[in-house]
Amino acid sequence: MNEIVNRVSDPKLAWKECLNIIKDNVPHITYNTWFIPIKPLEINETTLKVQVPNSFFVEWIDEHFNTLINKTIIHVLGDQGELQFKIKDDSNEPELPFEPTISKQERVTVSVAEEKVEFETYLNPRYHFENFIKGESNQLARAAAYAVGENPGETSFNPLFIYGGVGLGKTHLIQAIGNRVLKKNPKKKVIYISSDVFTVEFVEAIQTNTVNNFSNFYKKMDVLIIDDIQFLIGKEKTQDLFFHIFNTLHQSGKQVILSSDKPPKDLKGLNERLISRFQWGLSADVQPPDFETRIAILKNKSETYGIYLTNEILEYIAHNITSNIRELEGCLIKLLANSSLNSKEIDFELAKKTVKEISTNRQVNISIDNIAKVVCEYFHVDENKVREKNRKKEVVEARQVAMFLSKKLTKSSLKTIGLHFGGRDHSTVIHAFNSIDRQVGEDLHLKETVDTLRNKIELNI
Ligand code: ADP
Ligand code: MG
Repeated sequence: MNEIVNRVSDPKLAWKECLNIIKDNVPHITYNTWFIPIKPLEINETTLKVQVPNSFFVEWIDEHFNTLINKTIIHVLGDQGELQFKIKDDSNEPELPFEPTISKQERVTVSVAEEKVEFETYLNPRYHFENFIKGESNQLARAAAYAVGENPGETSFNPLFIYGGVGLGKTHLIQAIGNRVLKKNPKKKVIYISSDVFTVEFVEAIQTNTVNNFSNFYKKMDVLIIDDIQFLIGKEKTQDLFFHIFNTLHQSGKQVILSSDKPPKDLKGLNERLISRFQWGLSADVQPPDFETRIAILKNKSETYGIYLTNEILEYIAHNITSNIRELEGCLIKLLANSSLNSKEIDFELAKKTVKEISTNRQVNISIDNIAKVVCEYFHVDENKVREKNRKKEVVEARQVAMFLSKKLTKSSLKTIGLHFGGRDHSTVIHAFNSIDRQVGEDLHLKETVDTLRNKIELNI
């Protein structure tokens, strides 16, 4: 009797008992990688709350050990037993019940009281200044971003224009500004949008005769953040509209933040008047990280993933993955995956193998066919069906997600994407893109699915 009382009142005891069962049911390395880093926090009769290093853990555990955990917790805490995860050191992170629908990130919804409209900021709370590693390569961009976050619209950095190659932290920085502004003043109207989604929304507004609403909505923002502005090249009408929005905001002292893969003057094909306005404020670049920064990033991220890497491994990765921070992150995730899937310790050999895989993948461009394959596998849908005129719900969903990811992850035109999915028209692709883009904002389960698929495709895991 005493034992049961202790077990339901002491989180450590309850978790210890769970671990005893889990230990016997998974390989040693899997146990060490995924279960040892979990810390019991509290218990209330049937619910045991534990802390995990990050949301990747929750995802992984859900995907691979769902049944084992459910059975274990029921064995230890009875039929109503439930495990809840709390993600370490992230006060913005919602607490996640252990259900297959696990939210990786929660989009923040802001109410604008006086107008009674709700809109999504599309900011990912995971991007903030505290977890952005400083280095020579991003010094100016970070300092400027920080200043703007503290005093939006009140510095001479308006617009703030951050540019640089892929995976170097542009999106992270510009979203960190938005999150900072809202943290200081939740009433501010902040919105983040990538320029291709902006374009797609604009096209939709034209089709539905709501261009005025569309443009007024953006003109009311306190902080407008537009990512990857280079996608506006060649889109004259969207550029015109953006020009007017920009002017209205700038004249009323509102903050505009932009990112691009090139400095303003190199954005050939963008209207000159836009380019000249982009140069009014401050342009700052992010460069590939130097060796020391790469080590610092690897150390920081491996800690959040709850893994320990020897100096030899850290240096090996930092010497071989040099151009891109997203790849550094990808390497760590893949290292974890390789170690766990093959029941192997993370040692120097495994690190070498993983780095080699990453370098090989880099050569391979992501293809629409591969996206279709991965998505169909995931949804258990026959690949041929997404190319036929099949309107079954699950086929439509798989087709739309595959189209959405094809647009996001490849440089293919809408027309090409349409052709790969049974010769569909480009407007069908736009519709699919819009539809999924909207739904991921509302449906956390779908968002989770899309993120998982993206990882699978990009990292080939
Ligand atoms: P970009 O928008 O330039 O392509 P992202 O902002 O998406 O790049 O960055 C890619 C990944 O690398 C993100 O997960 C981001 O959090 C991470 N990252 C980039 N720069 C840093 C940094 N200085 N410190 C920590 N993480 C970083
Ligand atoms: Mg980006």
